[in-house]
Amino acid sequence: MKILLQFPEGLKQKGLELSKKYESEGHEVFLSASPCYGACDIALDEARWLKVDKIVHIGHNKFVKNDLPIPVEYVEYNIDVDTNGLVAVLPYIEKYKNIAVATTVQHIHQFDQMKAFFERNGKKVFAEGGYWATKPGQVLGCDSFGIKKVEGKVDAIVFIGNGMFHPLAIDVSKDETGKTKPVLVYNTYDGKVRNVSEDIEHLKKRRKGSIAAALSCKTFGILVSTKVGQFNLAQAIWAKKELEKRGFTAGILTANELDPLTVNNFMVFDCYVNTACPRIVDDLDEFSKPLLNIDMLREVFEIMDANKNPAPVV
Ligand code: SF4
Repeated sequence: MKILLQFPEGLKQKGLELSKKYESEGHEVFLSASPCYGACDIALDEARWLKVDKIVHIGHNKFVKNDLPIPVEYVEYNIDVDTNGLVAVLPYIEKYKNIAVATTVQHIHQFDQMKAFFERNGKKVFAEGGYWATKPGQVLGCDSFGIKKVEGKVDAIVFIGNGMFHPLAIDVSKDETGKTKPVLVYNTYDGKVRNVSEDIEHLKKRRKGSIAAALSCKTFGILVSTKVGQFNLAQAIWAKKELEKRGFTAGILTANELDPLTVNNFMVFDCYVNTACPRIVDDLDEFSKPLLNIDMLREVFEIMDANKNPAPVV
């Protein structure tokens, strides 16, 4: 069988070793060297050119819900966490009874152990699956809906993993006093704990800043990625139509990888609308222009339309 192996960046170093294993079983193996940030990004173009029988996608679980033209086998890459280290989290949640616990696909195989640890320490643990991150407690950079489902029942959120990409996706609402629930990150590398709720707020404020800046823009570039799990042409066409209806100029820009350098070479756009990975908007500095997800563009329209038709003074 002809196989294309695909790895996220952090696992490419294991690529050759794994290809040798498949070769020893009699397969012809190719290693995808394209960037891969998630299971939204299946190397279908390479697979077509190489005429492979199967893509083996390492390190993520299934994301794309529709049928793909080439079979894809998802192979999770489990990394064990020493759950005894979670003792470091306890002082931070001392006064809380109900908590949500979340982690990434690399550690989700230990979710029951994580949950049991906190239960042994007197906590009630809540966890649900999201839309793409379907396992209870699993989060993706674009999917913390599982936490949203239980947010109202908990006093704090504990994320177990490393890096800031996933915890910053956790969207916690403010309470009536304007405070957000703590989002505590237990770093599996160094065992340290950090409350990142202010960082989450900071990202939200930056997004609000982009919305405000977009209100004075005239020419919009609408970004469409051809990555199979990010492709959303219908949204782009809708955005173009709605912008033009309001008198703006808009063009649809397509690429597999939306590189700010090449996108900025168009020079004419003073705002971008993103229909691809929703976390691209956090790369604001690289694009050096306001960058809106579709929900943010809707907010821009609401503000514009309300300003055009102010409520009558009675
Ligand atoms: S869409 Fe973005 S955040 Fe979601 S899985 Fe893909 S790369 Fe990750």
